[in-house]
Parts: sequence; C-alpha cells; structure tokens
Amino acid sequence: MSQTAEQIRIYGTVQGVGFRPTVYRIAKTLGLRGEVSNDGQGVLIKVVGDRSVINQFIEKIHSERPPLAHIETITRHPLENVNFPDFIIASSTNNTVRTKIAPDAATCSTCKSEIFDPLSRWYRYPFTNCTHCGPRLSIIKKLPYDRKNTTMADFNLCPECQQDYSDPLNRRFHAQPTACHICGPKAWLERADGKPVTADMFSMLDDVDAVCTLIQRGMIVAIKGLGGFHLACDATNEEAVQKLRLRKRRPDKPLALMARDIDVISEYCSISATEQNLLESVAAPIVLLEKTIAQQLAPSVAPGQNTLGFMLPYTPLHHLALRRLNVPIVLTSGNFSDEPQCIDNEEMREKLSEIADYFLIHNRPIFNRVDDSVVRVIQEVPQVLRRARGYAPAPINLPPGFADIPPILAMGGELKNTFCLFRDGQAILSQHIGDLENSLAATAYQQTLNLFLGLLEAEPNAIVVDKHPEYLSTKLGKDLAAANNLKIIEVQHHHSHIAACMAENGLDIDCQSVLGIALDGLGYGEDETIWGGEFLLANYREFQRLGTFQPVAMIGGEQAIYQPWRNTYAHLVAAFGLDFLKNYEDLELFNFFQTKPLTLLNQMIQKKINSPLASSCGRLFDAVAAAIGICRESSSYEGQAAINLEALATEYLLNDAEEIQGYEFNMLNLQQDSKFPLTYLMPQPMWQSLLIDTKQSATPALMAAKFHQGLAIAISEMVTELHQSCEFNQVALTGGVFQNKLLLEGVSDRLIKMGLEVLTHSQVPPNDGGLSLGQVAIVAARMGGQDKDLGTNTRI
Ligand SMILES: [Zn+2]
Ligand SMILES: [Zn+2]
Repeated sequence: MSQTAEQIRIYGTVQGVGFRPTVYRIAKTLGLRGEVSNDGQGVLIKVVGDRSVINQFIEKIHSERPPLAHIETITRHPLENVNFPDFIIASSTNNTVRTKIAPDAATCSTCKSEIFDPLSRWYRYPFTNCTHCGPRLSIIKKLPYDRKNTTMADFNLCPECQQDYSDPLNRRFHAQPTACHICGPKAWLERADGKPVTADMFSMLDDVDAVCTLIQRGMIVAIKGLGGFHLACDATNEEAVQKLRLRKRRPDKPLALMARDIDVISEYCSISATEQNLLESVAAPIVLLEKTIAQQLAPSVAPGQNTLGFMLPYTPLHHLALRRLNVPIVLTSGNFSDEPQCIDNEEMREKLSEIADYFLIHNRPIFNRVDDSVVRVIQEVPQVLRRARGYAPAPINLPPGFADIPPILAMGGELKNTFCLFRDGQAILSQHIGDLENSLAATAYQQTLNLFLGLLEAEPNAIVVDKHPEYLSTKLGKDLAAANNLKIIEVQHHHSHIAACMAENGLDIDCQSVLGIALDGLGYGEDETIWGGEFLLANYREFQRLGTFQPVAMIGGEQAIYQPWRNTYAHLVAAFGLDFLKNYEDLELFNFFQTKPLTLLNQMIQKKINSPLASSCGRLFDAVAAAIGICRESSSYEGQAAINLEALATEYLLNDAEEIQGYEFNMLNLQQDSKFPLTYLMPQPMWQSLLIDTKQSATPALMAAKFHQGLAIAISEMVTELHQSCEFNQVALTGGVFQNKLLLEGVSDRLIKMGLEVLTHSQVPPNDGGLSLGQVAIVAARMGGQDKDLGTNTRI
C-alpha cells in the first residue's frame, strides 16, 4: 500500500480542552505515525499512513472530539520528506495568540461519579475537574492557557496528580486546574460574626456538607462558587427567603434557584426535553421554566411570576453541598442589589457579613467575575437572556463576507452591558457585566475590557459606541479612541439591535434590507428624542425609520421607569387631552390620580420640563400595567411591571379557553419630512376599551391578555401596512420587550402566516446584552463587503 504524508491544521476552540490526547489516541488505534502539537493557530498534525486511513482519522477527529472542543475548520496539505517512527505529542510552540479561551464548564459525569465514590481519591473533593470540565475563563490571567497563567499557579501538583497530568491517555492530561485533596484548594466554613464554627453543632461529613444542615435550619449561607459568591437559603422557607430579600435590599426581583437533580425541579415546574438538555448541558445555565401548581415554593422567591429560574449543580462543591437536600435552594448572586457579585474572600467578609449567617469559602482565587447565564426556551428554541458562565467568551461566527475585515471593538450599551471584540470574522462577546449606572459595575467593565484586550492581544482599528452621549460605555469608548488615535463610530441603538439579530441569523454582509422591529425601554434616536418602539427598514450599513409607537412624555424623566403610574398619566393625557379625568370620575384610577400633584404634572407635560418624549414600547407596558393596578406606585427593577403583566396574561390564557377580543390600536401616517412618511402606532382606542373594562370591573388578568393580543395584532397590521410600500421578506424581532414570550409568539405566528420569514435571537440576548454584536456588525459591514463606506449616512 502506498503511504502518504499530510499536514493537517485544526482551527477553533481546540487548546486546553483535551484535543491533542484525543488525536493521539485515535492515531494510535489506527496505526498512524506522526505528531500532534499546539501552535499559534490551533492544533497542528503531521501524519504518515495510508490515504484511506488518514481519511478515517479525520472523520474520527470530528466524531470523537472532546466535549469542550469546537472545530471551526480543518485544512489538509501534502507533506514531503518526513518520517516518523511512531505517533507522539510534540511540545507546543509559545505563540498561542489566535487561540480561543474556553468558557467555564459544568462538572462532567465521570468527575461527578468520582466525588461520590468512597474508593476514589477525589471522594468528596469539591474542586475535582478534568479536561472535559471545570473552570476556564474564571481562572485565566493570561494566555497561553497553562496552569502557571491561572489562579491555580500556587498549587503544586502532588506526584499522583503530576502523573495524571503528564499521561496522554489520562482524562486529566494537561487539565490545567486539576487537583486533589493533597495538593489542591480547600473549602472551609466561617461564621459571619467571626466566632469559631464548632463541629459538634452539626451532624456533618465536612464543611461543605455542613452547608446543607445550615440551610435546613433556615440560615443564609454565602457560597464561593465558580465565577463569584452566591447567597443560598432554603427556597421552601418563606421566613428565610424574606430575610435574604430584606438584607440584600432586593424586594421583588425573582431569585435564581438550584436543585440537586431534575427530579427535584420537576416537582415545581414542567420541563420539556429541550429545557432538560439545557439544564444538563456543559453551560448549565439558569433555565426559566413554567411553574406548575402541584408544589409551591416560598411565595417571595418569584413574586408575580409564572416562571421559576432553575439551574443544576455545576461544580463538585455544589453537588456535595446539595446532596442531602430534597428541596431547591435559592442561589442568588452575592451582592447588594445591582452591584456586581463579590469574588474576593476579603471583600466578601466585609460586605456579605450583613447578609449571610455563614460563609463557605475556598482558596482558589476567582480572577474573572462570571455570572450565571439565563436562558428561556420559546417555541422549542433556546433564547439566551443573559450570556455569561458557560457561553462567554466562546466566539460567534459572523456570516460570509465578514472574514477579512480589520479588528473592531464595540463598547455596548449602558444596561446589561457586554462589549464585543471582532476579528477574523468572529465576534467575541464579553460575559454579562451589568448596569454601568452602578459605579462598581463600571469599574468591573474597565477591568474586564483591559483583561480581554490583553488576553486576546487585540489591537482594534476602530471603536464603536452607542449614539447616546451619556452612556458610560460611549464616554469610555471616546476616551479610548482619542488616547490610541483610533476611529470612533457612533451607531444608533435600535439599528444595533436589528443588526445583532441579522448577524446571528447568518445574513450575508451585502444582504437585502429586512424590516427590523426593535421594541425596548429606551434608546437614543436619530432625531435626539428617545426611541423604543421602532420599525426600521435596515441592512447592516444603514436604515430608514418607517414606523414607530406614538411618542409620549416621560414625566420626570428617569423617574418614569420606577414609577409606572407616571406613564399611565402621560399616556392618558396623550390619548384624551389634559382634562381627561373629568370624564372618568367614577374610576378607581381617578381617585388614585387625585393623590398626585396634577397641576404640576400638567405643566411639566405642556412646557416639556424634564418630560422627554419617548416612543417606548417598554413604557407603554408600564402604563398599561399601572392602569390595571400592577406595580402602580413603584417598581423596584426595570421591566418589573411588564413581566408581571405577561405573567397575568399567560395565566388567563392558560386557564380560560374563552375567545377574547384584543384591544385595538390604530395607525396614523405623517410626513416626517418632504420624502418619507412615518407611520405611528396609536394606542388611543386601546386606552378607551381598557378604561371601559376597568369601569366594568374586568379582572386584571383578562385586561392583560387583551392588551397582549391587541398589541400582537397591531404590530402585525403595522407590518402589513409597511409591506405595501416597501420590499422585504424577512422581519427581525429584537429589543428587550421581545423577552416577552407571549408577545414574541403572538407576533411571529402572525408574520409567518403572512408568508414572511421571522428572525429571532438565540445566541445573544434580545435585550441590551446583545447590542455590542450589532454594533460590530454595522461597522464591519461599512468597512467591508461590496459597498465600502465608513460614512454615518443612515438613509437607504
Ligand atoms: Zn470532568
Ligand atoms: Zn494531587
């Protein structure tokens, strides 16, 4: 048989995930000779053997690749004059800049069985891991991903671990964070009041096991996990949950839950096959699941919600702590409301002693803060709502045409911030950082940005920011551009949302325009007003605004976000005029408004004092919620009123099969300038019907359902209207409002029936967490493709 020699290159997430040993094992079983090594571009293989066997070898590399590996491409070239006596793993070259950092991964099933096996040397060891699982992003300080460059550097391998680490056929070959009881990090319990923990207090195996007993006794325990500290308590103990809320200063926002296994979760929620796969995936995110009525958790866990956010244990420490618990625990980020979660032991002792009764601490430092990811399954498609642990910083491949464009850095938005680095046709999004209005989150943003730029040795050619001049990310981006003499490009908020949706759906760089429907809270518009209910005809480079929700005053500016009644008042004034109340004296709402300074409010609206106009769909939800008595006086987090409204509507539609008539909206065409008509979606008829319903004492759930149905119909009618004068076949649904499952399904079903293709999000959040991807896509498209132009022209 003729022997050939080939050089094979594998690109993708192929380093630090056990790739070389897998290649080695396959080559050995096939009797091939050659070598495998890591280098700056990925994995390099030189192989000698029969051509058909080499083909088989490649097939097996695909089919038997390690669980954390992601192969992007494999290239093959003939080699001459090589000879190998055997197949070996060759040492790596140093230059590893182009390789990827893998996300943190949940404990694999083999490691899990070892920690529960009394004969294993990893029995009850909370930091067990292997090449198929364990920490990655959370512990890396710099590349290449070697133990010395992680927070495991100070733990020297014991002889047995060293042997595993050096054996190519061992599951722990080059598993950088591998460790055991003898050589690795340790976990211990402390009391928040500083007094010593007495072992006789508990019937416990060790400090990790004691957590279970403490939780059963109603205590709050701060637990150091993978990417930060969490606060834990018994989720069936109302007193404990209330205590946690009070101390954490988080009155209403739903709390995440963890349960030992799927069986425990299924006592409280229904779980589809897709949802179960997600819960058990290596990313192991929080999955939002429909509540069932069979078993009830403490009411304070998720007030006003019809979903619960559950995750499964994803580190050995969590598996061990939950082993004896037959009920779910609350596992919420260890911080005061809105601050980033603590990652440092000292910082935690200082801050969380006001919240927790006990701490479960360990001495493996967390270098990068990584929150839990949140996913919701809509129409069998997982939609990432918060992209962090398990997902970031895995790259997102941009569609054809984006490959040869120079590197770009996009700074993201203000709320739910992520930033994004683009190079080699790929977008690398940071993990969810949080709301930059919070000064601690802003500090975290800068730290993470510096770290990523260093880790990826990236030198962007241009920096992209949102048009909003007051976003911290915009200001920082401008400073960074000035300091490094880089181009700075501002892009419009809702155009970015739409471009993100296009990019993750694989639309070509020079694609036809789509109709983008971007519904959210607030974003800076082209005309310096606030937008948030937009219908834009858009390609990657530019857009034309075709339609919008009626702009309504936000009385008191920012205050309108946290006092939903302000939006109700402004909407009713916009619909019926300043003296509308005189027609509604018999309404309960009338009495409510009498307690407010109406003269002042009217002056603010009339004279436009701190009452900017906003075409925001998010504020419309607030207005409707408050009108029917939900979160009327105040909401404690953005979107609370909308989420509670959706929950009520869903409940109604599940329980009452009776056909309902959605509230009507109408449309108004106005010339926005000499050429372009702008169509407004006007909620006035909706308000009319809603006020009649309140007068007739309709239930809030019925009114919530009618609102959702009416809005879905109105949006699809708007699309029909716009379709008459504009050409598009695809509609992108994006923006934070489309986290609303009922609305997303209602709109998308109707558009599909009209013969349109509907694009939705799955890989990046529809909310502002996905903005940075769109920012990158817009500027990359302006720099590349057939129509190169870096201008800021926004007309098509
Ligand atoms: Zn493992
Ligand atoms: Zn060891």
